[in-house]
Amino acid sequence: MPTIQELIARERQRQTHSINLIASENFVSEAILNAMGTVFTNKYAEGYPGKRWYGGCEFTDMVEQHAIDLARQLFKAEHANVQPHSGTQSNLAAYMALIKPGDKVLAFKLEHGGHLSHGAAFNASGKFYKFVHYGVSRETGRIDEDEYTRLLKENPDVKLVVTGASSYPRAIDFKRLAAIAREHGAMFMADIAHISGLVAAGEHQSPVDVADVVTMSTHKTIRGPRGGMIVCSSKFASKIDRAVFPGGQGGPLVHVIAAKAAMLEEALRPDFKQYQRQVVANAKAMAKAFTEINPKRYRVLTGGTDNHMVMVDITGTGKNGIEIENLLGEQKIYVNKNFIPYDPLPVTQTSGIRVGSPLLTTLGATEQHFTQVVQLIDRAVSGENVATQAQSFMESLA
Ligand SMILES: *Cc1c(COP(=O)(O)O)cnc(C)c1O
Repeated sequence: MPTIQELIARERQRQTHSINLIASENFVSEAILNAMGTVFTNKYAEGYPGKRWYGGCEFTDMVEQHAIDLARQLFKAEHANVQPHSGTQSNLAAYMALIKPGDKVLAFKLEHGGHLSHGAAFNASGKFYKFVHYGVSRETGRIDEDEYTRLLKENPDVKLVVTGASSYPRAIDFKRLAAIAREHGAMFMADIAHISGLVAAGEHQSPVDVADVVTMSTHKTIRGPRGGMIVCSSKFASKIDRAVFPGGQGGPLVHVIAAKAAMLEEALRPDFKQYQRQVVANAKAMAKAFTEINPKRYRVLTGGTDNHMVMVDITGTGKNGIEIENLLGEQKIYVNKNFIPYDPLPVTQTSGIRVGSPLLTTLGATEQHFTQVVQLIDRAVSGENVATQAQSFMESLA
């Protein structure tokens, strides 16, 4: 086995020499990378600023308080918790804060684009709580509000509604979904893991005013270190804090919290808004390019996108999702196979792929670059070897 230093160098090379369209990834800045590699990793700091179980937390307290203040400012929220180790941990903490084991929750179906932490049978969420799921309409591919409302009517014991998705290309009307949830006596939680950067930049409706709790990842569109974060109203502040620590975690990752603070500083700068605008414009350019090549070969779900991702039914190519993922991977183009709503194929194959714009946009790509990338994808799918073109494309960005 090569040394770890060698493997890190190879991974760095891979990341900068491939066309990466994985919608949930991004490239962090040197400032964020450096913050993670600091001596704060040596520090134990169970508790919260000013209330720790360990001594020597004077600088740790300042780091975490700074991150909390910036998160509150960025999301215009009354309270923030920056300790969750991941998006999934954020969700488990939110459930622990809001409901009791055995309580009923309404959430978005995994097979229609939801997340495993929204009640999958094999996840802690699905083991501890009773989930019922809504999906998208077969005709429009958009969240089926009738089914959402019907399930709330049929299940008057639903305590909590969870919205948010991993593979859904359209804007989510949190305001409307929250109003319907409240009419039926349920609390409302928004998981903005994928779109937190768009929300922070005003490129997607913010759920902060209408949701009881908002959870997120920090490593997707918002372009921070791997981790999670929660913002909420003061009403749930202490419940959320207790659910994160000691409810579900021990000591926080102080080095990662420092990196989250660096991420938040960046997200408050004007060029971050510009970046997120370009992310959306670039995703739209990809949707358009697929459709222009051949809408039967590449059926863009919902006909386009409002966010950073495009979902494509690729059965018209004669190949399934995993075949496309592997074939493109060999040409150094990374996408992921994805279930599409009402997918007839098993999860190991799937009828779709998901492509996203955050990574290449961070490298400076604009609409015409994304059109080129989609054309390269089509040539690769047609059997051409495009590895050299992929390589020179990446060099043209640098
Ligand atoms: C990515 C994601 C998460 C969290 O994922 P982690 O890998 O645990 O950070 C949670 N919810 C949704 C909707 C997601 O897309």
